[in-house]
Order: sequence, then C-alpha cells, then structure tokens
Amino acid sequence: MRTVVLAAALAGLLAGGAGAAPLAAHPAAEAQALDLAEKAIALRSVAGPGNKTPEVAALYKSALVAGGFAPDDVTITPVDDTAYLIARWRGSDPKLGPLVIYGHMDVVEAKPADWKRDPFTPVVENGYLFGRGAADMKLDGTLAIAALVELKREGFRPRRDIVIEFSGDEETRMKTSAIIADKLSGADLVLNIDGGGGNLSETTGAPEYFTWQGAEKTYADFQLVVTNPGGHSSAPRKDNAIDQLAAALVRIGQYQFKPELSDLTRAYFVKAADHEPPEIAAAMRAFAANPADAGAIATLTANPSTIGKIGTTCVATMISGGHALNALPQRAEANINCRIFPGHKPAEIMADLQRVAAEPAVSFTDVTEGSVPNDPSPMRPDFIAAVTKALGATYPGVPVFPSMASGASDSMWFRYHHVASYGASPMFMKPSEDFSHGLNERVPLANLRPAIDYYLVLLPELAK
Ligand SMILES: [Zn+2]
Repeated sequence: MRTVVLAAALAGLLAGGAGAAPLAAHPAAEAQALDLAEKAIALRSVAGPGNKTPEVAALYKSALVAGGFAPDDVTITPVDDTAYLIARWRGSDPKLGPLVIYGHMDVVEAKPADWKRDPFTPVVENGYLFGRGAADMKLDGTLAIAALVELKREGFRPRRDIVIEFSGDEETRMKTSAIIADKLSGADLVLNIDGGGGNLSETTGAPEYFTWQGAEKTYADFQLVVTNPGGHSSAPRKDNAIDQLAAALVRIGQYQFKPELSDLTRAYFVKAADHEPPEIAAAMRAFAANPADAGAIATLTANPSTIGKIGTTCVATMISGGHALNALPQRAEANINCRIFPGHKPAEIMADLQRVAAEPAVSFTDVTEGSVPNDPSPMRPDFIAAVTKALGATYPGVPVFPSMASGASDSMWFRYHHVASYGASPMFMKPSEDFSHGLNERVPLANLRPAIDYYLVLLPELAK
C-alpha cells in the first residue's frame, strides 16, 4: 500500500507539473493494477519448458470475474505450451462491432545472473516497478483490467461489446495473435495497449508528447540462392556461386528505395520536429513538405531513428556458402530482411530487389514467417477525438500525434483483416529508460494514476 501512496504522490507531482485537470483519484484501481502486475511478473511466462503464461491467464481471469465479468464470458484457450484469453463485456447494442483491447501475457526470456535484481521477483523501488514484463507489458495489461473493473464498479454500461484479449506468444511465434485476430475480425476498432505511448523529457522528466501508432512496416525475409556444379578449386570456372551472390548483394546494399510519405508520416514529421535537435527537425519539416528533398533525405537516412520512417529498407542479415576449402562452391545463400513501407506488397519489393541484383543466377524466394502484409489504419476522426480527449484530461497541453512503427506489432494481424488498430498505451517513459526486452526492465509508477484516468475517459468514448 505504501508504494501506491508513493505512486499517487509522484503522479500528482507529474500531473501537477503539466497543469492537470483535477480528476478524481481511483485508488482501488491503481492498487489493483500494481498488485496484479506484481503477481504476473512473478509468473515466468517465457516460451518453452515451464511456460507460466496459462497461469497469468488464470490470474487475469480471476480478477475480471471478481470485478463483474460473467465467468462464461472469459475464456482461456490453451495452445501448445501457452494460452490466450478473451473476455467480453456485453454492450447494450449487439449489432455494433466490438471495441477490442489488445495485449499479451508472455515476456522475453531473462537470465537472472545478468540482472541486478531477480527478473521474476517484482521489486518496487524509488518509484519504479522492476521485473521482466514490467514495461512490456504486464503493468499495461493490468492497468486496462483494473480500469474495466473500475468502470463496472462505477456502473458504466457500454453500447458496443468491449472485448479485452491477451495473446500468449507475441514475443515468439505469434500463433495465438493470428488466431485471436481471426476470431475478432468483426471488431470495430482495436486499441493495442502494447504500442504508442508518451515521452518524458530526458532532462526534466516532464511529459513532452504522446504518439498513437497507426501504421507499421511490413516485415519480410527473402532468401537468395546460387547453385553451381562446383568442382576442384584448382580448375576455377567463370561462374562461381559465391562471386555471383556477392555481386548481387553489393548492388542491393547500394540501392536505396524511393523515399515515401503518407498522410500519417507527414503528420508525424510536422509535429515530432518540435521535439528534435535543430538539424533533424529541419530535415523532418523539409521532408514533410517535399519527400524528394535530397538534403532532408540524406539527414534522415543517416539517423537510425528516422531511416525506417521514410521508406522501405532492405538489408543483408545472413550469408553462407561453400562446403570445402579446396572446392568450388556448389551453393551460396543469403537472407535479405526488409521492412516494407505500408502500401507495398512483399512480392513487389522482391521483384525490385531481383531487378537491382541484375544477376540471373540468383534465385529469390519469400521465406517470411510469422508476419502478414498490412496497410496503415485510417486516420479515424472518432479515434483521434477520443484519444485527444483522454490525453487532454490526464496530461493537458501535451501534444498528441500519430506515428508509424519501423518494427512490427500485433496490430498487423488485425490490419491484415482490414480492422483499424491503434497502438495507444498510456505509459509515459524517458526513451533512455526503455529497457523492454533488455536488462533491469522497469516502469515508472508515476504512470499509475494518469493511466487509469486515461482509460476511464478513453474506453467509454470508444465503446459509445
Ligand atoms: Zn510487447
């Protein structure tokens, strides 16, 4: 309980700094979110032997049922060594497509020997919750559960069904993610609480801006193979599998896909420029005005955090070839990993690479696993209004704008079914404190109060 008081005090300071409106506190929801997150962190929900994801599902189910969900409306489905959970709060109008809240229960492996504290023992210290999954995304999940329970406690009645679902293998195979998206493809909108979020200033710790993720790149792997009859290395032939593959890879490495701008990335660059150092900011503004601006392209390409936002990128990630020191290679192969700008199909990008490689001996095969092509979600005015209202109530004056992820998220499974999906976690962090997937993962507890407030405004808006 002491930790909750501390968190509430921190939240008050934080919100006070931004001039927050006086929203009522919801101590029961804040305490429940933290308590459930601590219990969930203690369950080692890592893929493989001893995977405790089904126990996390049981924990979440018991909290939802105790909070008023009908037991039959909360289902846990085992899949291999994991499980997924779908809980439905029935709305008054069954004809409306449900609002889906998406999260996951599994976490990335953590080696206790490398951590300062045991990764699977939750620790609250100096205003942070430490543990594997603290940031990605056990507290995020339990905040949403606690907010739903609070809405039930307050007597809220949604018009459309609210479905909260948790996948069980987001960090590995995404098999349950694909199953869930298939089952819920009639959703009106998906709120992905494992994406988007707010930035805290590195220097002052004050909230700087919030982005909602409305698009992501499509992930693809292409295998390049050259085969050759081979022979004795003392009698070289003109066609050598390694030479041919190497020449193709060099040409692909030198190629830059045409930079692109979408409505969403334009909105991002214009707003994000206000929070960047002068050189990057100028390049963002110039690129937003003219995506053919060579100077802007050069600057944004040289910057690791923007190169992925201005177009498709493809890069060689693996190579192997030959079978003996003294033999002509019979086979050489490489993997090209692409992050495709929304709106393009992998086949189109593979054809581009084939043309650039200009080496007929190299065969190209799409070997992508665990990913589906997806287009951006529309910039839906009802969602933008709702998220802006929820942020305005919790962090007044903090800019809200869209972003595109350079990596992949589970939103792709829904976007693949043409269901609008938006990453919009209420968690605010300093970029330097994001230790998701890494060592000593932690999350600032100052998020507790505003996150609950955010959901209490956002969910009723979206479930209207
Ligand atoms: Zn995650």
